[in-house]
Amino acid sequence: MEKHWIGGKYVRGAKGDLFTTVSPAHDTTIGNYALGSEQDVHTAVQSARTAFDSGPWPHMSGQERAQVLCATADLIHIHCEELARLETLESGKPITQAKAEMETAADLWRYAATLARHTVGEAYNSLGENKLGLVLREPAGVAGLITPWNFPLLIISQKLPFALAVGCTAVIKPSELTPGTTLKLAALAHEAGVPPGVINVVTGFGNPVGACIAEHEDIDVISFTGSTAVGRRVAAAAGRNLKRCSLELGGKNPHIIFADADLDAALDPVVFGVYFNMGECCNSGSRLLLQESIAEEFTARVLELARTVPVGDPLAEDTKVGAIINEPQLAKINEYVQSGKDLGARLRTGGRQIPTLNGRFFEPTVFDGVTPQMPIAKEEIFGPVLSILTFRTLDEAIQIANDTIYGLSAGLWTSNVDTAFEVSRRVRAGTIWINCFMEGHAELPFGGYRDSGLGRELGRFSTDEFTELKTVQLHIGEQRSSWL
Ligand code: NDP
Repeated sequence: MEKHWIGGKYVRGAKGDLFTTVSPAHDTTIGNYALGSEQDVHTAVQSARTAFDSGPWPHMSGQERAQVLCATADLIHIHCEELARLETLESGKPITQAKAEMETAADLWRYAATLARHTVGEAYNSLGENKLGLVLREPAGVAGLITPWNFPLLIISQKLPFALAVGCTAVIKPSELTPGTTLKLAALAHEAGVPPGVINVVTGFGNPVGACIAEHEDIDVISFTGSTAVGRRVAAAAGRNLKRCSLELGGKNPHIIFADADLDAALDPVVFGVYFNMGECCNSGSRLLLQESIAEEFTARVLELARTVPVGDPLAEDTKVGAIINEPQLAKINEYVQSGKDLGARLRTGGRQIPTLNGRFFEPTVFDGVTPQMPIAKEEIFGPVLSILTFRTLDEAIQIANDTIYGLSAGLWTSNVDTAFEVSRRVRAGTIWINCFMEGHAELPFGGYRDSGLGRELGRFSTDEFTELKTVQLHIGEQRSSWL
């Protein structure tokens, strides 16, 4: 690729330097990309600014924008195989999962198209005789979108079509580990009719590209997905020039199984919930909270199933767990496993890198005997590691569930409707799954409490992040009052 996408075409970086991406599963080079500089960000922001301030996009009707978003969705669908293969090669995720993610991404573009036609405000006709108040929603301007490596096309599709739907333009920085599908998406959207300058992609590293976007004075809103640590830095940078900022950050999500649950039904979602995407998932159900009376039996069943999860070449159709993204991530997983062992948790299965000629693969891992204060119970590992804790009462389950800095999601299994709703009300998390886990729909908002983030993506409120409210007041007819 070797170029950024700016102003509706591929453009060389100002400095001409390149970086490469490597397949985490095969250790082969996948792509050469432009190593973005601050100068490249300025060029991209200028392009987005011009497209917003004097281009047609913000002034097109919702119907016209919706057509373009739907045409982009069609092209994502048509190019699904090619996009999925690139996603798998750069991220290490299983190919069947990557294909499903491309189709889900296409659906997000279609859903955003419906919102393009529903950017509505309010009218106040009861402010007094001769008075009318209008509350208008206007596009916020240029959006800076910064995304991570774990779901590259899916996460940009949780932001970009929603920004475009209301008439914003965008400057995007994908993760330097997985920029391929985001660049291709920009070209597909162009083919679908997005005017030049509306979408701009600058490839490169968090520093300087991400940092420059976060603090740029000509960007109006920021939407970031990634780690809580970097999210804090992005929010601080955005705060310096008071631009709005939404953040989707980490999670340490509790998956709570009560003794009265349908344990047969819960088993597969528990294993899926922690090993999906190699555990490199903010929604991962990495803390399993079992009611004491069923803990031994259910742990045995989880262990049995975890040992059957197919780990291997992500290009193979039957693989469920692919490769760990890179060496630092593998080292982080190993450190957490060591800390679990050192602090007295019982390693029941897994815990090691699988020896292979190429790439880096990690065994599906289960610890039990975990106590709430251990780092493997509280901190985001971002790997295929399940920590099992036990509880006696509903109060204790909720206390443990809430005992982290995070609040992204939580799952619970019970056949008692009172238990289901009491836990749903008292667990502080943005999403609660009752008798299911990690299901998602474009219609339903997604985001976190506490250190899991700020703001919500998806759902009909998602476009609020990308709009400003404007109040318009008018008098009708004769003016009846005067100041003097
Ligand atoms: P980061 O939070 O570092 O990366 C997310 C994005 O932010 C990337 O595009 C990154 O660029 C960019 N970035 C990095 N530094 C800055 C900065 N100062 N200003 C603006 N943007 C910046 O995540 P990592 O990839 O480093 O992963 C580390 C950990 O983060 C994981 O182990 C996991 O715990 C967590 N994580 C959580 C995710 C989630 O969905 N909640 C997603 C990914 C990671 P670059 O790629 O160049 O670093």
